Amino acid sequence: MRLASGMGRLGTESAFEVLARATALKAAGRDIINLGIGQPDFPTPAHIVEAGVKALRDGHHGYTPANGILPLREAVARDMQLRRNIAVDPDHVVIVPGGKVTMAFAILMFGEPGAEIMYPDPGFPIYRSMIEFTGAEAVPMALYEDKGFAFSAEEVLAQITPRTRLIIVNSPANPTGGVVPKAELDKFVAGLADHPEVAVMSDEIYARMCYDGVPHASLTAYPEIQDRLILLDGWSKTYAMTGWRLGWGVWPASLAELATRLAINVNSCVNAATQFAGIAALDGPQDSVDEMVRAFDQRRSVIIDRLNALPGFRCAQPGGAFYAFPNIEGTGLSSRAMQDALLTEAGVAVISGTSFGVHGEGYVRFSYAASIGAIEEAMDRIGGFLSSRAA
Ligand code: PLP
Repeated sequence: MRLASGMGRLGTESAFEVLARATALKAAGRDIINLGIGQPDFPTPAHIVEAGVKALRDGHHGYTPANGILPLREAVARDMQLRRNIAVDPDHVVIVPGGKVTMAFAILMFGEPGAEIMYPDPGFPIYRSMIEFTGAEAVPMALYEDKGFAFSAEEVLAQITPRTRLIIVNSPANPTGGVVPKAELDKFVAGLADHPEVAVMSDEIYARMCYDGVPHASLTAYPEIQDRLILLDGWSKTYAMTGWRLGWGVWPASLAELATRLAINVNSCVNAATQFAGIAALDGPQDSVDEMVRAFDQRRSVIIDRLNALPGFRCAQPGGAFYAFPNIEGTGLSSRAMQDALLTEAGVAVISGTSFGVHGEGYVRFSYAASIGAIEEAMDRIGGFLSSRAA
């Protein structure tokens, strides 16, 4: 068989590999605490589940329009008005099977040999994987611990070349929990005026998970880039719906039809019943979202305090999402060695920072989408492991 060369460049998301190893260890009788997985540990709220079940009972079993059913796209437009204060034409919304698909479509639209696409590093590993798959050059934008894992607008703008086609921004971020401050976005957008040919994809899938009373700063707030901005959002994290596979993109008028054409070629449409559940999520009560975010906030305090008390660990306060990204250089272990040792010796699954890019060396990712009891127990075990090493 002779495979396409892109297949050799396709990366992966190590969180799924660590999950598989943790599951195998559990099956072999080991007690593993999983702080590796990037999904809420809450069930989907009952009224959303009911809406999905009802849609199946009501006979919604067939294909839907490729860009999603109109009532769902209208619900997204209402949500965009309510939470981001912008008017969105439902025809510019494309419903996809998960946030990842908006990401893939945007990268496929702009990536080809000779093009450059910029992505955050450390960042969600699929950005780089998909960019390299297309044959484009993946250009890392470094994120800095001492800037709360935000990018430097000045540095990013200086990296733009005549070959740059797309810049990917993610705030709040995976894996760092970092938030790009509004002042940095202001500078970034102002600088983009000199590069009118460069498109931006803003991955705002963690927008509802912002802490310390700091409102989410969205790139949709800048009218001057709306004709070249792709917004990625979805239901997976906000409504604890990772397994339903539902996401939305808001595309510039000139690209919405192309995104729909990609959907027709790849997935036809999203599961019909899931789309009805998506309407119930956006239009229904939001108290379960608020409760979940409050729980994450409490866990954030616990895990950050405990991580900072571990010898050789130092952890910046994350402003959003549900991840902590401590610096572990003081332990003398590499990120990968720490991931392996914590899994096999302490029974705690975490993800090496290097899974998120070269700038992730010296860090590990903890997901705090786990109970406070589990977090405390994990920290006890890690403390025990570190002191046994020191002894
Ligand atoms: N974007 C970021 C930054 C993520 O962390 C994730 C999931 O972990 C996604 C997008 C994809 O979400 P979905 O499960 O909706 O495809």
